[in-house]
Formats: sequence, structure tokens, C-alpha cells
Amino acid sequence: MLEPAILVPSALLDDIQKRADKSYPREAGGFLLGVFKGEAIEVIRLTGPFSADKATRTRFIRRDPRHKAIAVAEWLKSGKVCTLVGDWHSHPDGGFTPSSIDTNTWKKMSKVQSRNMVGIIRGRDGVGVYWYDIDQKLVRRTRLIQKDDKTTIWEPI
Ligand SMILES: [Zn+2]
Repeated sequence: MLEPAILVPSALLDDIQKRADKSYPREAGGFLLGVFKGEAIEVIRLTGPFSADKATRTRFIRRDPRHKAIAVAEWLKSGKVCTLVGDWHSHPDGGFTPSSIDTNTWKKMSKVQSRNMVGIIRGRDGVGVYWYDIDQKLVRRTRLIQKDDKTTIWEPI
């Protein structure tokens, strides 16, 4: 697939929901690990939340060393293919629109990685999948263009 798109396993979205519910009323979050395929990004797995992270009702700060440890382990295990593609977190009592802090976090991550990045926010009433565009330096919303039992495909708009 060469067009910009984000592939997310349906099970991973369910997992985000479960982890968000478990952490309620605090935020949950972590890394998204996956593969860059041309202009497409395939999310494969997630990390977190872990006990040393800082989580409140309105903030999630990744501080637990396990996020990075898992990312490095996956990278090595996959022959340096599976890498950091973005992050996810929940908004326990809010919508799934990114805050300015969210946008800035993705911007920094994109700059460090020199790649487009994926952001997933699980809100109270749904999930938002975002594409951080490194060239335009902005967050693009996406729309769900395909969904089956195994995979969801999101196209930046
Ligand atoms: Zn947020």
C-alpha cells in the first residue's frame, strides 16, 4: 500500500478500550509500535500503561522504563523493522480531540523519529486516529475507510 494510510488491528482497538476502562478515572497510555510501509503505517502492538507512569484524570506521562524496553526488544526481535510509530492515550471523561499538549507531543516525536506519526485517543464516546504529518507539521484527522474482524484502515484527511 503506497497511499498514506494507517492500519490498526481491530483487536488492538479493543485492547485500548479495555486498558482505558481499567485505568478509569485516570488516563491510560503508551507507545504504538509497528511498521512503516511506503506511505502507510501499520500498527502492530502497544505498550502500557505501567505502574511508574504518571496518570491523572487529565494527563498521562510515560515514565515507566518498560515502554522503551519493549520498543527496543521488539525492534531487535523483528530485525529492526518493528519500531516506534506513535502513541495512544485515553481521555476518560472527554472527547477524542487532541489537546495542544497531545499535538506538541506528536510533533516532538515526529521530529525525533524523522517520520510521520500515529496518535490514537480513546475518548468517552469513541476513538480518534490521527496522522501527524511531518512535512506540514500538523495533525491530520483520519476517516475509517475499511473495517473487518481483523483490521481497520484509516485514511488521513
Ligand atoms: Zn490527550
